[in-house]
Amino acid sequence: MATGDNPSTPADRLDDVRTVMERAAKKAGRSLSDVTLIAISKTHGAEAIQPVIAAGQRVFGENRVQEAQEKWPALKAETPDIELHLVGQLQSNKADDAVALFDAIHSVDRPSLVKALAKAFAKTDRRPALYVQVNIGAEEQKGGCAIEVLPTLLASARDKGLEITGLMCIPPNGLEPAPYFALLAKLAAENGVQKLSMGMSSDYETAIMCGATHVRVGTALFGARG
Ligand SMILES: *Cc1c(COP(=O)(O)O)cnc(C)c1O
Repeated sequence: MATGDNPSTPADRLDDVRTVMERAAKKAGRSLSDVTLIAISKTHGAEAIQPVIAAGQRVFGENRVQEAQEKWPALKAETPDIELHLVGQLQSNKADDAVALFDAIHSVDRPSLVKALAKAFAKTDRRPALYVQVNIGAEEQKGGCAIEVLPTLLASARDKGLEITGLMCIPPNGLEPAPYFALLAKLAAENGVQKLSMGMSSDYETAIMCGATHVRVGTALFGARG
């Protein structure tokens, strides 16, 4: 394990993150193979991403469709088994583009987007995994559907033939995240949803102990965003 705040190489940082993940999984009596690390590469260019791919990472996440369209086709051409996740808000008019490029979409949060995704699916055989983002802290400024409307949103997705794989959340800044992660896990269990996308650089260890199946880690892997 590298020492100090700034481990020297992307491979070191990847090792460090995997070590933390393993420790959390062990503490929770879970298997590390049940937790997927999504390397969040938003704002970072190909020159920063390539060494992380070279170190063995295959699952990446971006928060903007257009930025991902500019970066990833070339990177995927070099490494075809890349899996790409969209973790940022999605405008309905970008649904076709998102379905074409991403293998998972973590930000389904409203009926109009469910409708747009159903339309996009009708035009293609591609079927990215879909996650409903829940506004877990009921914050006015934050994306995600309100907890109260989650069952209705899930029902409308199922009505349109969209399978919802998981739930995603971003807990409120500066508060202890564990209760929010536990609440998301409870909502998933109550609603028959399998996967849990929760945990970022500051709290992925806690998220894994609360049941996360996908952690979204940017800064701890790539360093601070400029
Ligand atoms: C940027 C981002 C992350 C990664 O955040 P870090 O704190 O850099 O690990 C995770 N999830 C979402 C939705 C993001 O936008």
